[in-house]
Amino acid sequence: MFSDAEWVQIEPLLHLMTRHVQTCRERTGASVEAAVERGYEWPVLAKHKELTGLDASDVGCIERHRLSDHGPPCRECGRLLRMKNSKKCYDCGNLVA
Ligand SMILES: [Zn+2]
Repeated sequence: MFSDAEWVQIEPLLHLMTRHVQTCRERTGASVEAAVERGYEWPVLAKHKELTGLDASDVGCIERHRLSDHGPPCRECGRLLRMKNSKKCYDCGNLVA
């Protein structure tokens, strides 16, 4: 999970990656997969490595790891709720009152 201070370093790179992929697709007609293979995600993955010390391969996973987007820990399993207004824990199914 990324704090807001870390997220401000990642978010612009995610937006830049998306713009590069869109531009590539518009100019070449490439599929999303083909555009992504051009390495536009590399700055995001490098920042992830810099901040966490860990390698990542899935940018989509990084996009879902902003701590402030999640709810509090589940009272049953302790995992963070996926959203602030979650009614149910995605991991254990516990209903949130
Ligand atoms: Zn749970």
